[in-house]
Amino acid sequence: MDLGLRGKAALVTAASRGLGRAIAEALAAEGASLVICARGADALEEARDAITKSTGVDVDMVAADVATDAGIALAWQHARDRYGRVDVLVTNAGGPPSGLFETHEWDVWQHAVELTLRSAVELTRLVLPGMKERRWGRILIVTSIAVKQPVDGVMLSNSLRAAVTGCARTTANEIARYGVTVNNMLPRYTRTERVEQLNAATAAREGITVEDVSHRIEAQIPMRRLGEPREFGALAAFLASEQAAYITGQSIAVDGGWIRSLL
Ligand code: NAD
Repeated sequence: MDLGLRGKAALVTAASRGLGRAIAEALAAEGASLVICARGADALEEARDAITKSTGVDVDMVAADVATDAGIALAWQHARDRYGRVDVLVTNAGGPPSGLFETHEWDVWQHAVELTLRSAVELTRLVLPGMKERRWGRILIVTSIAVKQPVDGVMLSNSLRAAVTGCARTTANEIARYGVTVNNMLPRYTRTERVEQLNAATAAREGITVEDVSHRIEAQIPMRRLGEPREFGALAAFLASEQAAYITGQSIAVDGGWIRSLL
């Protein structure tokens, strides 16, 4: 199936590794030109070179921290200068720190607001006028299954991803008539560095092996395995496609069946 992405310009934030990178790879494999960003230039260069080599598409990069005004503006300007537009925006960022309600003072909440909520809001604000004008656009937001079922011990993620989801759902309704869709992608237990680090930390804390932690997690998942980043990237490619033009305002989990709710 031709997804109609050849020649489209995509901006994927937080894409030097993990889910963001897998999304960038999936879009590039469908022929989209890319700007990818993350904070560190070295890992980004490696990602850019690898994606260019494997797909042959035009991939550019910019070191930018999406938790800051300057970083958001830089990522957007870089994409605009390079391609003149952004057709597909993927907002992703590192996860906010874990912890209980009593763990964090407001300054930590504030930084998490900037990292998780503000980055999605402000990047959307920048790409939207051009998408409306061209009457075509795809906004994809990486959130978490925590918006369907809160995860213990990650107060900031549970709270702020819910805010992102409310914003995305409402924006989707406001801009649907311009041919612009907004959808959220919800990961759970996908095999990325972040998950490997979290599993190692759990093993050290509980005095068990990383394999024990993995087996415990796998037992909770109907598929009995972690997801692979490329399986998450595949959803992004579809939601960005021509074929997904009538899908908007949705929050779609890629979780091997982990969420047990009906809807
Ligand atoms: P990861 O740590 O493997 O990769 C994160 C990427 O984001 C890296 O490229 C990093 O350089 C970049 N990054 C981090 N902070 C940034 C910032 N301020 N500005 C720009 N780039 C930044 O993480 P991941 O597993 O790919 O997760 C991506 C997102 O999905 C996170 O928000 C995470 O909390 C969420 N999530 C992941 C899972 C999972 O199973 N992997 C599950 C639920 C939610």
